[in-house]
Amino acid sequence: MLLDAIIIGGSYSGMAAALQLARARRYVLVVDAGQRRNRFARHSHGFLTQDGEPPGAIAARAREQLMRYPTVTWIEGTVRSAAAAKGGFQVQLEGGAQHDGRRLVLASGVADELPDLPGLRERWGTSVFLCPYCDGYELAQGHLGVLATGASWFHQAMLIPEWGRTTLFTNGIHHPDAEQRAALATRGVSIEETPVRSVSGERATMQLEDGRSIPLEGLFLIPRTRLTSAVAEGLGCALDDGHMGPFIRTDAKKATSVPGVFACGDVARAAGSVSLAVGDGAMAGAAVHQSLVFDSSSK
Ligand SMILES: Cc1cc2nc3c(=O)[nH]c(=O)nc-3n(C[C@H](O)[C@H](O)[C@H](O)COP(=O)(O)OP(=O)(O)OC[C@H]3O[C@@H](n4cnc5c(N)ncnc54)[C@H](O)[C@@H]3O)c2cc1C
Repeated sequence: MLLDAIIIGGSYSGMAAALQLARARRYVLVVDAGQRRNRFARHSHGFLTQDGEPPGAIAARAREQLMRYPTVTWIEGTVRSAAAAKGGFQVQLEGGAQHDGRRLVLASGVADELPDLPGLRERWGTSVFLCPYCDGYELAQGHLGVLATGASWFHQAMLIPEWGRTTLFTNGIHHPDAEQRAALATRGVSIEETPVRSVSGERATMQLEDGRSIPLEGLFLIPRTRLTSAVAEGLGCALDDGHMGPFIRTDAKKATSVPGVFACGDVARAAGSVSLAVGDGAMAGAAVHQSLVFDSSSK
């Protein structure tokens, strides 16, 4: 069967795209590997009507509502590759199954690559965070840290004092210049230049190489990100460089550089959130539908 659209990734952005298509009675397949980016967090914040809900509960409710539409099919699995085929595209799943669709929506998210520091990974999403808008408020204006990683460490160190007294851990990677030190001082940021050995404790106690320890209520850092799937590159979609990593280039309607292929959510923006993923997905779903109606020149 030639489906109207195949959506790769069934989290917030993919389900939002599927919902628009389902409501136009189009035949949609969602393939999802079940690895939402925020699966490490206990609560999700900032998404209207769902503020503070467990991220899995939001996704489960969305899926339950989506699956009430009879034209939607869901496969728990992983798409290995996709290629142009007669009438549109063919996707290959791990395990060998193949499915054909007139349009593709890439909603497969990104993965965070954390610095290799003992104790960091197990605190990701509970006391070590990326996004202060998601998690800053709950830290109750306690002592916070910024761990310098990639290029955006200075921006983050300037921003985080909005949520509490802040120490910047340069960790032997970055050395603020005189101008940066002066700017950080105006924000009340302390600078700790001793490298960090590990993170421990119930929250995030920074254990330094010289034996000192600095207890924090929460630690922020900006990880590198990578696309979770090689499908976009395999199709030849153009990518852009973001401050955290590459993302798929899209236009205002979430169309990629490859005709018939759309992308939404974290995979198609420099930095994302649940709200933005849902908005992007809704745009992509409507744009896919209208391309099926109006665009007879493309596949
Ligand atoms: C620790 C943490 C906490 C966060 N907290 C918040 C918060 O409080 N509020 C907020 O708004 N945002 C938060 N975010 C950001 C939020 O998680 C993302 O912006 C959001 O999940 C993006 O949704 P998405 O649909 O684009 O991608 P994702 O939610 O990452 O979902 C992508 C889906 O695609 C699937 N997939 C990938 N490759 C394939 C493949 N080849 N085949 C099939 N399926 C595939 C994945 O398994 C996954 O299910 C947080 C992020 C992190 C890391």
